[in-house]
Amino acid sequence: MGRFTTVGVVGAGVMGTGVAQAVAQAGMDVVLVDTGDDILDRARRAIDEGLRMRRLLARDAVPGGDRAEIQKRIDYRTDLAALARADFVVENITEDMALKQGVYERLDEVCPPDTVFAANTSVISITAIGAMTGRPHAVLGMHFMNPVPMRPMVEVIRGHHTSDATVERGKALLDALDKEAVVVADSPGFVTNRVLMLTVNEAAFLVQERVAEAAEIDRLFRGCFGHRMGPLETADLIGLDTILASIEGLHTAFADSKYRPCPLLRRMVAAGLHGRKSGRGFYVYDHAK
Ligand code: NAD
Repeated sequence: MGRFTTVGVVGAGVMGTGVAQAVAQAGMDVVLVDTGDDILDRARRAIDEGLRMRRLLARDAVPGGDRAEIQKRIDYRTDLAALARADFVVENITEDMALKQGVYERLDEVCPPDTVFAANTSVISITAIGAMTGRPHAVLGMHFMNPVPMRPMVEVIRGHHTSDATVERGKALLDALDKEAVVVADSPGFVTNRVLMLTVNEAAFLVQERVAEAAEIDRLFRGCFGHRMGPLETADLIGLDTILASIEGLHTAFADSKYRPCPLLRRMVAAGLHGRKSGRGFYVYDHAK
């Protein structure tokens, strides 16, 4: 359909499943790659659940077909070589520079030279990711928001070498997903996470110092500022491991002590309290995802 036939999605965690669902329900074919069949089985169930929720929330008929038709467009694979036919790849693997490097080197080998790579990262430099490939002009950042199918906007990041044509292709994909793009320059954390991660980290300090409980902090942000979610609910949704990796990334990148990670956040991550996806973070959830 349209200008994209097959979109590769690497990483089938919280973000990758959301991106795969959004692309498939927009009518395009998806190759979704992760490291193991168990992870892909979980991703298939998460996408089924996402599609069920979408059906329940929609007042009118939803485009893209029924659940089975949309699932049929997603090819679940464990080998990056399956992306040889992708004309656009969205990478959503763990926020870890070394892991990302391995994936980009392999993508560069298996994908055609004009395939665009979009990095969905929280704070890693898009310029640095571009440098892991032989095609830095064809690499951009696409910072999707969680849950991907429901969020109308994406922060698009132009790396040092990203070409205008690549930015246009990124915008065209987002247009096909019915999402608006705001393009910003490359800087650690971009715009959204540079502000959000500081807010979450500071909120964690407030809990640690017993100034207020998590629920009171979130209530204040909802009631006083009209935010739909407070910072700690947002942190649980994002994943506290991803939050910690992001604040650590900002701390390293700027060498500024204002980004020092809150010790409580570190302890929670070490204890396996990763937020919604693990069933427990600042809040307790009924079912772990
Ligand atoms: P996650 O932990 O839920 O999923 C990461 C997935 O990557 C896992 O399934 C893991 O098995 C897979 N993976 C690791 N190495 C791989 C490899 N070599 N090949 C294929 N798959 C591999 O993490 P997430 O929350 O989905 O985050 C993914 C990326 O998106 C991170 O860079 C994160 O910073 C960014 N991000 C996250 C959010 C959020 O709200 N969670 C929002 C925007 C961006």
